[in-house]
Amino acid sequence: MTLFATTIAGSLPKPAWLAEPNKLWPAWRLAGDTLAVAKRDATLLALKLQEDCQIDIVTDGEQSRQHFVHGFLEYVEGIDFSRRVEMGIRADRYKAAVPTVTSELRLRGRVHAVEAQLARAHTRHKLKFTLPGPMTIVDTIADAHYGDRVAMAFAFADLLNVEARALETDGVDVIQFDEPAFNVYMREVGEWGIEALHRAMAGLTCTTAVHICYGYGIKANIDWKTSLGNQWRQYEQIFPALAQSRIDQVSIECRNSRVPLHLLKLLEGKDVQVGVIDVAGDEIEIPEQVVAVIAEASKYVAQEKIIASTNCGMAPMRAEIAYAKLAALGEGAQLARSSLR
Ligand code: ZN
Repeated sequence: MTLFATTIAGSLPKPAWLAEPNKLWPAWRLAGDTLAVAKRDATLLALKLQEDCQIDIVTDGEQSRQHFVHGFLEYVEGIDFSRRVEMGIRADRYKAAVPTVTSELRLRGRVHAVEAQLARAHTRHKLKFTLPGPMTIVDTIADAHYGDRVAMAFAFADLLNVEARALETDGVDVIQFDEPAFNVYMREVGEWGIEALHRAMAGLTCTTAVHICYGYGIKANIDWKTSLGNQWRQYEQIFPALAQSRIDQVSIECRNSRVPLHLLKLLEGKDVQVGVIDVAGDEIEIPEQVVAVIAEASKYVAQEKIIASTNCGMAPMRAEIAYAKLAALGEGAQLARSSLR
């Protein structure tokens, strides 16, 4: 692998002809077969633009899903989407009208076969695919069947595992589970969160990753961040358990965050996807700023274990801002290769 290989957390803005721009829950602009074709076109465009920005490990940009959790849930039987319950999610950081689990969970079939196979056929770069993690899913859905959050999380983990194995067969190189809930329910990460992830990745031989961030750049998250004080030490409580886990890579937020980077030492042995691009603001990083974060992380993580990434998904951003930031990411990693070794 290239030194300081680049990747993105996962999502990218959708073209305005596909979905409403700048929204976390955008409405599709099209329907039926036309929508299906448009999703494929958008996926190809996202791949091309990532390659042009020198992103080494590309994703489908999550162009085929409306939301990172519900894109998966749509393919799960046992959920009543018309039975919405208002719930405070991420420990009450925001209210959402979430659907309800009403019977045994089952997958309706393949979830991401179309976009995964399409992406594999059209890029020679390493391909990463994202799935929501079990803890984050159960934090985003109401339960009227299992009566036990952990049991429901394990049921979701088994479904995720079926799709993850199929994605591996499609030729995906890295499967990443997105677990922003890990930064909220720190005690439960050690109690069952990692075990649920192990279940979701059982039998995989491809690279596995978990993404744990402080959320998209939306108001509720920005307000939450200001309440966390001068030093964000959530990672300190979960990194030791992650270091002991079977997960290969951990994707975290560093740029413009108040995470003391010496905490990265607690991830000893893991590859670290270091967030060097902020997604909460529109200011475009310059390559030297990217190098600075990589240099700081290099004090605590072996250089060959550093992958340069974005802090979080870019779905709600303006497309021209997001891609300018990716260009800075690619150029910054290039500069780091020549200046830091
Ligand atoms: Zn994130």
